[in-house]
Amino acid sequence: MVQLASPAPYASVTPGLAFGNTTVKPYSPSRPHQGKDWKWSVANPTKSKQTHAPAAGIVKAAFNDGKWHNGWGNYVDIHITTEAFTRLAHHETGSVRVRAGQKVALMDRIGTMGDTGEVKKDHDHLHEELWLKQKDGTWKRVNPDLYRGPNGKHLPGKPLVAAPAPKPSGSQKPTPATPITEEDEMLEFTRPKKSKNVYAIHPDGTVRHVGKAEWLWRRASEKITGRKLAYTVDVLTEAEIAGMPKRGK
Ligand SMILES: [Zn+2]
Repeated sequence: MVQLASPAPYASVTPGLAFGNTTVKPYSPSRPHQGKDWKWSVANPTKSKQTHAPAAGIVKAAFNDGKWHNGWGNYVDIHITTEAFTRLAHHETGSVRVRAGQKVALMDRIGTMGDTGEVKKDHDHLHEELWLKQKDGTWKRVNPDLYRGPNGKHLPGKPLVAAPAPKPSGSQKPTPATPITEEDEMLEFTRPKKSKNVYAIHPDGTVRHVGKAEWLWRRASEKITGRKLAYTVDVLTEAEIAGMPKRGK
């Protein structure tokens, strides 16, 4: 039972080009966009450009030389199950930290978003593909978002890397009282400069204050689920937060 996490957990909440898009060049009805793009965030370029393994697996290809590589540029293939692999494309040259043949764990750092391959110069982004093995033995790209989040499907096939053994029962943590929704996974949390407040920025760009109880269970659920919160400190100011649209108003 394996699902995908975000390969760019600190990326901008503004979505990049969606899977299947045919309206943005060079994509067309005959050649739709076969992946999902992730954008970096101007609020924190260094961190938001980081790419991470969206699941544990075995690296089968890792390029770092800046060559074209059929348009993918510096791409990394991570085989997750016997029937699924992810391709993370357009990495900055020199940023790729993994090599073909090695194992990676969920969330291991892979590299940094770049503009190698079929990308306009300086339009750094991560292009994420999910390839699934078909019954006839060929591989086909599908929308990776279908395999993420609480309502997402599980990847077909057998995992190539065993899940970590469960912790001894004495160390079990309580489960979060509130279920983690799909939107939760897209929240960005931020603590402004010189402030003790934490705010949640929702995918639609609205913002709300996060109470202490919520923050505690979010931190707890981060440990339980292994999914790191997108959390920045000292990037925004209280004044900038005050200028953003409020949630639910
Ligand atoms: Zn793309």
